[in-house]
Amino acid sequence: MQMYCTNCGQKLNENDKFCTNCGAKILNYTNVNSNYNQNSNVQTDKGLSTIIKVFLIIGCIASGTLLIPLIWTIPMTVTYFNASKNGTPVSLGFKICTLIFVSQIAGILMLLENN
Ligand SMILES: [Zn+2]
Repeated sequence: MQMYCTNCGQKLNENDKFCTNCGAKILNYTNVNSNYNQNSNVQTDKGLSTIIKVFLIIGCIASGTLLIPLIWTIPMTVTYFNASKNGTPVSLGFKICTLIFVSQIAGILMLLENN
C-alpha cells in the first residue's frame, strides 16, 4: 500500500520514519487504523447511550402516566376513609367512579354496602 505524508502529501517509502520532504513524523498505517477504530467505538458508545437515554425517557413517561391516576385515586380513597369514619354515606356516583377508576372490587363492595 502506497503511503503519503499526512503533512505535505509526499510519497513515502514503507520503512520511512520521517517524511523525506518536510520531516514530519510518519504515522504508520496500523496506528492510523487503531485511531480510526477508537473513533468508531466512541461513535458506537454515543449511539448506545442515545438509545439508553430514549428508553430512560420512555420509562419516565410510562411511570409518570402510571402516577397520574394517583391524582384522583388518593383523594377518592381519603374521601371514603373519612365518610366511613364519620358514618356518612358516599354517593352512587362516587361508588361507580371508584369501581371504574380506582378498584373494581372496592367499587362493587361499596355498591353492596348498606348505607
Ligand atoms: Zn511531508
